[in-house]
Amino acid sequence: MPYSNSVAEIGTFSAYMSHFFIGGVVVHSSFNRTAGFHNDKMGCVQNAVRFIMERLPDHLPRISPLNVMMHPRIACEACWRPEGPGGERIMFVGDKIFHTNDHYPGQSPIFGEGPKGKRGIPDQLRDAGIVNEIRGLAPVPDRSPSEAMRGIAAVVHEFGHFLHEANRPALFWSLKMVSNTAFVAPDIGMQVSGYATINPLEFVAEVFTGLVFGLRYSEGVIAQYHAFGGVDL
Ligand SMILES: [Zn+2]
Repeated sequence: MPYSNSVAEIGTFSAYMSHFFIGGVVVHSSFNRTAGFHNDKMGCVQNAVRFIMERLPDHLPRISPLNVMMHPRIACEACWRPEGPGGERIMFVGDKIFHTNDHYPGQSPIFGEGPKGKRGIPDQLRDAGIVNEIRGLAPVPDRSPSEAMRGIAAVVHEFGHFLHEANRPALFWSLKMVSNTAFVAPDIGMQVSGYATINPLEFVAEVFTGLVFGLRYSEGVIAQYHAFGGVDL
């Protein structure tokens, strides 16, 4: 992976800029090489792209170029700058992608909560620990297999937001405007994850993540996913 020598300042944080091309998407990555779990997160981004390409070989070029900003203490988010159609795409990837959030004893692994709140598909996949059985992954050198699984799935979730926006931009932005009040029917959202019940955009990204990793959903969930503009896969 080629690294350029350019250094940018993001607050007090020096970032090296790198550019790589993977799966039809140009990824501009900004990071501090010495900070946090940088190599692990790079591995997660590369693996996330591979998993998505297997299911959706033609869609990634629609979200190129993608800027990936890595820093230990940032949230994991899909953002557009300026926010709206045509904005520059920025994926923020913090070390949080590896944090565990086991469900409380006696609660559902699907829609139960953990100490960090609502659990998502990355938590469900972490529970399953299936990364041990997948061959040919890019290294996630310093994380355990279950942590790597969680991190890869968390990045796939963020890709899900970008692909949703590229698939149905008008619908995406109208749902984003009402995301604080918009409603996902609990009986539908709870079939997916606690996180999927937050709003329609999280529902779409969660179902997308589950589908990428081969989870199966009811007709009701799939119908709602398509009605919200989720990518067909
Ligand atoms: Zn999300």
